[in-house]
Amino acid sequence: MNLQASNPLLDVITELSHEFGTAEYVKGGGGNTSAKTTDTLWVKPSGTTLAGLTPESFVAMDRKKLAQLFEIEPPSDSSAREALVKDMMADAVKPGSTGRPSVEAPLHDIMPGTFVVHTHCTIVNGMTCARHGAAACARLFPDALWVPYVDPGFTLCMEVRRRLRGQRLVILENHGIFVAGESANEVRATYHRVIDALRAEYAKAGIATELKIVSPAAPEPVTPDHIVYSKKPKLGPAMAADAALIRQLANAFGGVRLLDDRARHFIETWEVEAYRQTRIL
Ligand SMILES: [Zn+2]
Repeated sequence: MNLQASNPLLDVITELSHEFGTAEYVKGGGGNTSAKTTDTLWVKPSGTTLAGLTPESFVAMDRKKLAQLFEIEPPSDSSAREALVKDMMADAVKPGSTGRPSVEAPLHDIMPGTFVVHTHCTIVNGMTCARHGAAACARLFPDALWVPYVDPGFTLCMEVRRRLRGQRLVILENHGIFVAGESANEVRATYHRVIDALRAEYAKAGIATELKIVSPAAPEPVTPDHIVYSKKPKLGPAMAADAALIRQLANAFGGVRLLDDRARHFIETWEVEAYRQTRIL
């Protein structure tokens, strides 16, 4: 018998995963979701899609063990650091649970709230990938934590942890959005508030929220996902169109801000992404 099948928290987070697993919010295996109690974090496995999750798919993690990650002095070499983090994360997976936890699991762990829904929502990325995104975020969402771009994975988690002061809305430059809530409706209400406010900004600037410019064959490097999935034949054109729409929307906030060569190099050589790519066609 699978005990996870009868956990009501997992029914709620599965429903939210499907709701926020549409193309408006994520592409391919992008985004992740979680539910937690004091001792356990259930998180989306790496290399799966939000839309395809079931209550049984979630990886159960021991939060005490996961918290040990925050105590380590990480190696300065990025591949040694990522390997250590991967081992510690695997060690925190509870007996009887299978799957490799999402690399963003520690970030879910530090967020307040029972439910956390992280997506790469295009409407939001029109602001996160814009030159004046930080100023727009401060003006429109004073309750949000804005996090300047850092490499995803452990570095990002530690950066958010250093800055977080209980915010339930975290907006990541050139990446996406984290929303936490005690109920599904709290998560939904925050998403709707953010999206409605941004749609109003685009309308005010005379910018359409559907693609009006011709998208190039390959996606521009606006977020890590646009680098990762550009190599997938099935996802390449959708990512190119998404990046083009982000460029169009970013005009409301001073124009697009692309990831630089160093940031792109990290993504291209990151083992976690290589793993994720092998799982998502
Ligand atoms: Zn993400």
